[in-house]
Amino acid sequence: MSLILRTLAASDPGLVRTNNEDVAFAGRRLIAVADGMGGAPAGEVASDIVIRALAPVERSAPDREPLAALLEAIAAANRGIREVADADPANEGMGTTVTAALLSGDRLAVAHVGDSRGYLMRGGTLRQLTRDDTFVQALVDQGGLTPAEARRHPQRSLVTRAVQGAPVEPATTALTAEPGDRLLLCSDGLSDVVEDHAIAWALTAHPDRQQCAEQLVKLVQQAGAPDNVTVVVADVGPE
Ligand code: MN
Repeated sequence: MSLILRTLAASDPGLVRTNNEDVAFAGRRLIAVADGMGGAPAGEVASDIVIRALAPVERSAPDREPLAALLEAIAAANRGIREVADADPANEGMGTTVTAALLSGDRLAVAHVGDSRGYLMRGGTLRQLTRDDTFVQALVDQGGLTPAEARRHPQRSLVTRAVQGAPVEPATTALTAEPGDRLLLCSDGLSDVVEDHAIAWALTAHPDRQQCAEQLVKLVQQAGAPDNVTVVVADVGPE
């Protein structure tokens, strides 16, 4: 079956930061979120590079293997970030997360580096499609921290992998999309301060994508919005 995405992106600097280093893409086949790091302006430059490299994937041939298209674009972005970092010492250390999903027919490919997340809401159940590349997630995996402790850990924002000009292999997931699926991509500005059950509630309670995104941003603001927040809400449906 040929399916498309109906999408909406929202981004907000939050209540503490003055700049916004998050960038999003919301097309009919491709959705992506990148959360830049490295301090202004380097973080914004890095997240912009990765989204610019991904954007043409929206128009890639329908018979192209979707995961290969995503990985090639992320590799190109990684080289671009290396070049910009090398050109100016002020950009050293610049990098970005990336979480991208591409729909091809009914095949959905997800590629991921860092701590921006992808979620799938299907049949009333929220499933996280990505695993954070963070210090605290590694501790949780080793049994050294509970997920609740990880949420409050002072180093919860410490990312262990990023697209920053060094070799990096994105984590990948592939699944068969179904009409009625709702996808959410978000930066850690959402998932650090809003728990999964509240995210699930917002995704369920607001069929309207705009209202849904506004509700998610509102939940972040109610939690103090210490970081930039970006959400992409995407509904899978027939073309
Ligand atoms: Mn962030």
